[in-house]
Amino acid sequence: MEYISTRNSSKIFNFKEVFIKGLAEDGGLFIPKRLNKYTKAEIDSFKKLSYQDLAKKIICPFIGDFMSENDLSKIIDKSYSVFREKNVVKLVKVGDRSVLELFHGPTLAFKDVAMQLLGNFYEYYLNNENEKINIVVATSGDTGAAAIDAIKGKKNVNIFVLHPHNRVSPVQRKLMTIGKDANVFNIAIEGNFDDCQNLVKLMFADKIFSNEIKMSGVNSINWARIIAQSVYYFYSYYLVEGDKRPINFSVPTGNFGDIYAGYLAKKMGLPIDKLIVATNQNDILHRAISNGNYEVEKVTETISPSMDIQIASNFERLIYDLTDENDEKTIIAMQDIKEKGDYKIDQKKLDKIKLNFLSSRMSEEEVLKTIKSVYEKFDIVLDPHSAIGYGAFDKVNLSGNNIVLATAHPCKFPEAIKNSINLKADLPDELMFIMDEKEKYDIIDNNVDKVKQHIKERI
Ligand SMILES: *Cc1c(COP(=O)(O)O)cnc(C)c1O
Repeated sequence: MEYISTRNSSKIFNFKEVFIKGLAEDGGLFIPKRLNKYTKAEIDSFKKLSYQDLAKKIICPFIGDFMSENDLSKIIDKSYSVFREKNVVKLVKVGDRSVLELFHGPTLAFKDVAMQLLGNFYEYYLNNENEKINIVVATSGDTGAAAIDAIKGKKNVNIFVLHPHNRVSPVQRKLMTIGKDANVFNIAIEGNFDDCQNLVKLMFADKIFSNEIKMSGVNSINWARIIAQSVYYFYSYYLVEGDKRPINFSVPTGNFGDIYAGYLAKKMGLPIDKLIVATNQNDILHRAISNGNYEVEKVTETISPSMDIQIASNFERLIYDLTDENDEKTIIAMQDIKEKGDYKIDQKKLDKIKLNFLSSRMSEEEVLKTIKSVYEKFDIVLDPHSAIGYGAFDKVNLSGNNIVLATAHPCKFPEAIKNSINLKADLPDELMFIMDEKEKYDIIDNNVDKVKQHIKERI
């Protein structure tokens, strides 16, 4: 498969470049030049596959000659062997909708599904290329833990994770900071998540620095993550398709990565009707989709911190589609967002968005209420992110087969659970030990030179 950047549709890249670079040098995001659409018969033929075998089918065409089918097969089996569920994910009926639990990986959030695979892709790449790289990643809590678990102890790769100091939950922080592996470095930045993301962007943009340390990224714009995430849309489709009603997904959304993976699945031919962009009170995407104003506001802290984001990086991929795949128009839109903090989506584009997407927003109070009512009615504890996805179906009135992506285990956000239903959300038994472990991280100012210096001293 050939790839291009959303900001330059004439230069061609292969999967290896797309995976290792993460972001294109022109600042754009990588996307396939052409996407093959499966026929209905092909889609049906995947029905009986295990999660792992389905992943092999879906991912294989995207990676080209990066590795052989046999190596990919081994890597997928290995990546998903660390999950607590044999089938990786689990679909549970909760009232009139289904909840797709994506949090059975080592760090209790959906990000493990893609990240475990990426970790093994890196290992494979580094064994063959004989180089040493440094991964630098910003996290609002979950990406960091998932990336660390995937990279820890691997040869020829270090990982530096920047999280916003005092703005992640203690369990989220523990899952990042208790490891003893010499290739893992945690940095708490005196700032918020957008500051962390901005520091990583600045370091990538400094070509001298990023080349010197052989910097690589695993944030949610990495195409390899998107393709790995599209697999569970297919998998859950086969679990519910029997009753023939239209299938809709509600996706707790921050950086627009997970929901973009659903959109990708739809573009590949999976008969999804609507994808709901479920946001918390940081609702830039809800405002953009409901009235065309992609207008950047200040981030506020919520009890769903992994969605406390104002600039949704992956949205650029959708903008590219909305401009009829026009790289120049995409550049202009992205300039408006960067310089004016404002991008107007015209009616024609909004109509196009509405063929695939709906959106919703939930206040803090509504999130707590949703956790409470789901618990009281169904005896199921949703984490705040998943509750936002669940409640979205009450706001948008879609009949059909409605699937909510449950993106994190409730024990990652014990305070919210306690405030809502006065219950202690326990860790799974296998992870109980983490609360007693000693943590290791450095606190650094929101200053790119200081962070660069810190990294250089450690590689
Ligand atoms: C990362 C994350 C999200 C948001 O996913 P995006 O791909 O950034 O839209 C939602 N919920 C949880 C628990 C997360 O960790």
